[in-house]
Amino acid sequence: MKSINLVVKSCEELTKLVNTSEMDTLSKTANSILIQIFTSVIDKNWVKDIECILHEKFPDSVIVGASTGGEIGHGELFTNSTVVSLSFFVKTALKSFILDVENANEDHLGKQLRQEIESSCSNIAGVLLFTTPITMNTSDFLSGFSGAECSYPVFGGGAGDYGYILKSLIFHGDRYLSKGVAAVVLISDHLKIETHTCLGWEPLSKKMTITEVDGLWVKKIDNKPAFSVYQGYLNIQNDENFFLNVLEFPMMLIRDDELYARVPEAVNEDNALLFPGGLKKGEAVIIGYGNPSIIIERSREVHKIMDAFNPESIFLYSCINRRFLLQNEVNNETKPFESIAPAAGFYTHGEIYSNHGKVNLLNTTLVAVGMKEFDKERKSNEFDLQGDNHASLNEDPLNSQHYRIISRLINFIKVVNEELEEANKAAVRLAETDYLTQVYNRIKASVIMEKITQQCDQFGDDFSLALLDVDLFKNVNDNFGHNVGDMVLVNIVKVIEKHIRGTDILARWGGEEFLLAMPNTGLEGAVIVAERIRTAIEQTVFPEVGHQTCSFGVSTFRTGEKIDDVIERADTALYSAKRKGRNLVVSL
Ligand code: GH3
Ligand code: MG
Ligand code: MG
Repeated sequence: MKSINLVVKSCEELTKLVNTSEMDTLSKTANSILIQIFTSVIDKNWVKDIECILHEKFPDSVIVGASTGGEIGHGELFTNSTVVSLSFFVKTALKSFILDVENANEDHLGKQLRQEIESSCSNIAGVLLFTTPITMNTSDFLSGFSGAECSYPVFGGGAGDYGYILKSLIFHGDRYLSKGVAAVVLISDHLKIETHTCLGWEPLSKKMTITEVDGLWVKKIDNKPAFSVYQGYLNIQNDENFFLNVLEFPMMLIRDDELYARVPEAVNEDNALLFPGGLKKGEAVIIGYGNPSIIIERSREVHKIMDAFNPESIFLYSCINRRFLLQNEVNNETKPFESIAPAAGFYTHGEIYSNHGKVNLLNTTLVAVGMKEFDKERKSNEFDLQGDNHASLNEDPLNSQHYRIISRLINFIKVVNEELEEANKAAVRLAETDYLTQVYNRIKASVIMEKITQQCDQFGDDFSLALLDVDLFKNVNDNFGHNVGDMVLVNIVKVIEKHIRGTDILARWGGEEFLLAMPNTGLEGAVIVAERIRTAIEQTVFPEVGHQTCSFGVSTFRTGEKIDDVIERADTALYSAKRKGRNLVVSL
């Protein structure tokens, strides 16, 4: 195959560019011609004029196109233009479809298209899809489409505009749709297709949870109106500029071990956010931000893989967010593709990419598609794979300064976040721990036991506890001083810890009183543990004070009880142990 990409602004220009001897030769030897049109002009008449010229020249070609958020031709960004990408296949046939999504169920339509494709085509090498994510639920469509695993790659992009989220257009044949799907099936035994994607956005905020969803609208995050997250962290307003302000800060989530980004495209009067890519209740999300250095680094990896694949043509479907974030440097990630093979595509409102047989609508990514029918000879030295220095593409080093600054700021935020998280963990630890003995304090133990008893009620598990109180401890303080008394308490804890399991919970319940909670332990078992600890303490010689003893009250959880009931019984048992002469285990 061979691809020629034309960047045109007028019909005259196009006419001139297609009427060359090279085009004549290529079209004569081609088995099929795929023409992709990526246009900034969302006007049916303009597209018709272009199609007319192309049809006249290449009557058997398949023409398909989308409106864009920026066009990519010769691996570079063009704006307010139209890129016409002509691919001449020698050993590949094409079959095309266009579907009107107006009044249709997207999921059902996806299933239907898949069936139609697979019943009418064999030897499918890949499927190119253009959809209109602004106006239709493309996620549902793709989930319908990829019901059963796809054995071939599916790729493409979502049509849109330059960030106003108002209009989109896809077209094929004589259909021009603002809400629809166009598909081209590449049928071939010879065509090899490699698809790759990269993101480069990084988590920035703390983890939050989606708590209320209504279709594509996320209503609540952490039980607060979803929009308040963007307002609080980024001072973004609920106004007509919402999308433009928010698109560099998508929500990041992890699904099936992959990091995904989802950009909210609108906010409504109830402060709910519209995520065309779909988010689910219960999913954990983090506000993310593009780190330019990492974006370029990740795209470098894709360049390398693509270079190794050595394709004849490359198609790029890159998110409009990348263009907004990288601005003038956006070519740094697309331009190197051109030195591998002719590269064209567009800036999308969602990228279509299949992974392990499942077709997804991605956001904020770059999807690169390499194709070849034959293994062409490698070009040498044109693509410097070792040269990771992206500044080399930019002769003026000050030119790319803004993204270096952003990268450093992102790093700064990440480090501050980590420091805060550490400090937070330390504060939590402090709030849960007894300062003297370093075991749990009463508050934390109560919270844990509350949970355990709830589970016991649900699953009928055993749970017992022991309250232990040091015998005649007042004497220790009186005879040896408070500091020595403290050391005795620390040492008693050490003895206890030697005789309990990892799942047991030891807490300081009061002055010289400790609580041992024993999950999955019945009354008999708990008495045995208490007896073992009692003996161990009795036999220990504590520095300065010599022998000490403790009294124990043991109780077990009974279905339907509150934790306070169990503790009260242990307390009564402990009281009884004291009354009976101390250094005793009593159960109730
Ligand atoms: P009993 O066998 O009846 O429990 O006698 P007791 O002396 O242990 O009981 P009492 O409740 O009269 O005294 C408990 C003593 O424990 C009094 C208090 O000063 C001491 N105590 C409580 N917390 C600490 C502590 O953190 N350090 C020290 N050194 N002593 C403590
Ligand atoms: Mg005591
Ligand atoms: Mg006491």
